[in-house]
Amino acid sequence: MIVETGPNVRDLRPGQHVMLSWAPDCGECFYCLRGQPNLCTTYTDPLWEGVMLDGTPRLSWDGAPVYHYCGLAAFSEYAVVPAPACIPLPDDMPLAPAALVGCAVATGIGATFYTAQVRPGQSVVIYGAGGVGLNAIQGAALCGAYPIIAVDLGGEKDAIARTMGATHFVQGGAGAVEAIRALTGGRGADHVIETVGAVAVQEQALGAVRPGGVLTLVGLSSMGSGTNLPGALIVRKEFTIKGSYYGSVSPRRDFPRFVELYQAGRLKLDELIARTYPLDAINTAFADMLSGAPGRGVVVF
Ligand SMILES: [Zn+2]
Repeated sequence: MIVETGPNVRDLRPGQHVMLSWAPDCGECFYCLRGQPNLCTTYTDPLWEGVMLDGTPRLSWDGAPVYHYCGLAAFSEYAVVPAPACIPLPDDMPLAPAALVGCAVATGIGATFYTAQVRPGQSVVIYGAGGVGLNAIQGAALCGAYPIIAVDLGGEKDAIARTMGATHFVQGGAGAVEAIRALTGGRGADHVIETVGAVAVQEQALGAVRPGGVLTLVGLSSMGSGTNLPGALIVRKEFTIKGSYYGSVSPRRDFPRFVELYQAGRLKLDELIARTYPLDAINTAFADMLSGAPGRGVVVF
């Protein structure tokens, strides 16, 4: 909820509920004008530096600057955020499910709607059934895909993957590609969406794509890492490989759309919330996330 606005903020008012976007767009740069606001360059440098848009941080500790992760730093009771990062929320939208929209939901659903552009009846494989992967699964379901095959090392994610719309669950690891081919006429899938961001998984995922199909890389591997994909096969089998950053969404267009779909009963957000934590337990929340606990944890203030 907005407590106070700065002097030049016109479209937001105190008391208003908002969702936060970690990739605000300016609406005026080369990319914004071409309908790719997720690639907006205007605010990229300060946000990556962990400062506000004027190049300075608002937080400090013992006189030393504290930087704002993604320009938001929202694990606190009060946060200073750039106005363009705030997307208004209807007053009747509950806050815990709304908290999921600005990251995993946008990234996962956007990857299917906008980057991969999954068509009805197409086969889709999703590597990784974490926060982004579960939303790629429900995005594929909303697109009318079949089958929707979830792949994860953690067999305990089978149930939540099916809740979100997966029709099959394949145990990750060495035998995954063979199992996927067995479910897709021996060919592989029309679309494979990789949400793990591990080089070895990215390399394996191409093997699950049918000739002429599309691999969409959503998971972020470490900067400087190298993924080795076979050029000869990419040519001979006409694979398409796409990167998907923030699900290719336009936050100002799509966050309200996702809220509307939730309120209409078409988007599953409550089902994603497996745990809630008070702010004091945030280290437990991170430990649970890193251990691969199924579903999302939400810090409730
Ligand atoms: Zn821009």
